[in-house]
Amino acid sequence: MAVTQETLSYLDPARPEPWASFIEQIDRVAPHLGHLSHWIETLKRPKRILIVDVPIVRDDGSIAHFEGYRVQHNLSRGPGKGGVRFHPAVSLNEVMALSGWMTVKNAALGLPYGGAKGGIRIDPRQFSRGELERITRRYTSEIGIVIGPDKDIPAPDVGTSEQTMAWMMDTYSVNVGHTASGVVTGKPIALGGSLGRQEATGRGVYIAAREAGRRMGVAIDGARVVVQGFGNVGGIAARIFRENGAKVVALQDAEATIANPAGIDIPATLVHVAAHGSLSGFFGAEPISEEEFWHLESDYFVPAALEGQVTPERARGLRTKIVVEGANGPTTPAADDILRDRYILVVPDVLANAGGVTVSYFEWVQDFSSFFWTEDEINARLEGIMVKAFDAIWHTAQERRVSIRTAAFIIACERVLAAREQRGLYP
Ligand code: GLU
Repeated sequence: MAVTQETLSYLDPARPEPWASFIEQIDRVAPHLGHLSHWIETLKRPKRILIVDVPIVRDDGSIAHFEGYRVQHNLSRGPGKGGVRFHPAVSLNEVMALSGWMTVKNAALGLPYGGAKGGIRIDPRQFSRGELERITRRYTSEIGIVIGPDKDIPAPDVGTSEQTMAWMMDTYSVNVGHTASGVVTGKPIALGGSLGRQEATGRGVYIAAREAGRRMGVAIDGARVVVQGFGNVGGIAARIFRENGAKVVALQDAEATIANPAGIDIPATLVHVAAHGSLSGFFGAEPISEEEFWHLESDYFVPAALEGQVTPERARGLRTKIVVEGANGPTTPAADDILRDRYILVVPDVLANAGGVTVSYFEWVQDFSSFFWTEDEINARLEGIMVKAFDAIWHTAQERRVSIRTAAFIIACERVLAAREQRGLYP
């Protein structure tokens, strides 16, 4: 049966990335899906896109407008789930790609969710706390028609925090007339948040790295680790690597790139960043150039900043053994091929950074039952789910002779498309 398709009209051809990367990844998995590939177009079209105007009164009395998005990429396996990003580079194209990666990530881990993502094009550092609160509340109110504890559950992402989630939860609750703590995850503990959620993404990155290292003969103890991005993902991952005996030899954030071959004191770095907002000015390491950063020798390289960072050129220069993707979409498909040809293993985002959404799932379950687990229980369950997913994906990669990314996509897309097929099309 032929599938009729038209080009999506809302894509900006001048800025094809990163949705183009996601589509390329879907194209690469399609030949491995057997009869389910008949449904592949489902994954190339977000189910629902909402673009909202977010107007606020600024502190000086002027009125400012922002563009906000919520994209529900797929809802075949359950409600939408995925973060909300506040960043000056947010675009519809980016949010679409991020929502697609959430579909794949949630399915690869076996979480009962579809995939969604949201964002506002804004530099949060340019606004006061009061302005950010008004932006967040108006945005939440505008997307209120598509979110809800059993519809679509936002969470933090780049530029948003547990405070953002508290405002979102409150705004949604006020609008529906009762406290609905399960409408967002990544909330403060006092509002129904989960222990262990804040560090879950970084902890998951470490678990994925350790599992890859165990199979590749690259011990964590004594390993040299380079981390790009020092926010909630990179910072926590660096800390846990160090706690387990690795040496973090270089770090980069939006303002600085620093190195210390003897190993950077991560707790001191975290204190510095909490006080000054960036790595810039940290005394325990030497500043190095971008060029040097991408050529440093390491055992693990952790891109934990934004998408599209590992370009083909950088992939040719990387001197590492294992890339563990803390960010979403950091490696372009062309760079992926170069790393494969150079025998550098890539643990893909949809597996490596899935710890965050996994503990979001625990938070949502705890909110529904109003029964809260201990941090040990949460970390043990996170470990269990991550290791099981890693094993299954690794096994598929060996069996089908494909990359870990393609194996994760095979498992995830089979689950999503089987659900699509079993549910059938209405009407
Ligand atoms: N923003 C995180 C991610 O990209 C977490 C999403 C969530 O917890 O829903 O996976």
